[in-house]
Amino acid sequence: MIQKTLSLTLLTAMLTSTIAVHSNLNSQANRAIAAQQQTKPLPQPTSAPKPLALIFNQTKDDMPAVRLPKGYDGCNRDEEEKIKQAWKQAHFYMWRADQLMDYLDRHDKYRKEMWSDGYVAHIKNGDGKYVNYSPRGWFGPYDGDRFQKVRGAINKVWHERFLGKTFTVECRTKDSNKGSHPCYIKNPQTGNRPSANHIAFGTINFCKDWFDDSVSWRAQGVIHEVFHWLKLPNSALWVSDIHDYWAGSCLKYRAANSLYGDEAAYIANEGGCNGWNYNRTPINNDNYALFAYMFGKAVWDGKTMSGASMTQFPSKNFKW
Ligand SMILES: [Zn+2]
Repeated sequence: MIQKTLSLTLLTAMLTSTIAVHSNLNSQANRAIAAQQQTKPLPQPTSAPKPLALIFNQTKDDMPAVRLPKGYDGCNRDEEEKIKQAWKQAHFYMWRADQLMDYLDRHDKYRKEMWSDGYVAHIKNGDGKYVNYSPRGWFGPYDGDRFQKVRGAINKVWHERFLGKTFTVECRTKDSNKGSHPCYIKNPQTGNRPSANHIAFGTINFCKDWFDDSVSWRAQGVIHEVFHWLKLPNSALWVSDIHDYWAGSCLKYRAANSLYGDEAAYIANEGGCNGWNYNRTPINNDNYALFAYMFGKAVWDGKTMSGASMTQFPSKNFKW
């Protein structure tokens, strides 16, 4: 406001001096021009153009080629097909997750607000599972350092693994649910047998239960396994399932062999002791897998799991 008043005064002064200097010319004409110029609106300061939203092209023409895994030891034809189908879906989810992180990286001016676009705390679907596609829902409130960790990990997995490495896969479904392989051993914490595992880097084993899941949930499983044996770039931290967290206050410390599903959502939604739960999110497999699944599936379906339209990020009601 102050600046505008000054500019107007300055303009008036300049115009007055122009009239004075050229008073020997047609002063009436000069006055008319001066009057016109004074009523003209002053030029507004040019604001930075608002960035274009990330628009999702439903044709998928620009998606890099899928690098399917090799091997398939122990798999029958149907199982091999199910792995390939899920791997393609996982590829799509990770492609979109990486695009989102690149987009946030490019738009630092709006990054903090976009991080929480679409965020709803503890939203539930019919299965009682947390469904939210926003980075905020899986990696805690915006924090510059945490963003760099998450972006770095997703970037590394997308470029070096999905695009850059051919994984070997095996089917561990032929032991009639008995044996020494982890496929046949119940996790004492969850009481369930694993649906897949990644024991030696580069080889992923698919267990019996995995094949019964939907293609999108099998894709979530692929992403979960691919994130194992991952060191965060520019950090000494590794991504794993084993973490401690706080189920409420600092007094409610918990050590966990695995933080899956709603527990992974919990550490992103509830800071626990001094917000330390949030710092566990970039080092927990299922937070990446569930984020990529929720976001990627929403883009694939054109709508989020809670039914909102999903054709762009940030959403159409984002306040730029
Ligand atoms: Zn795991």
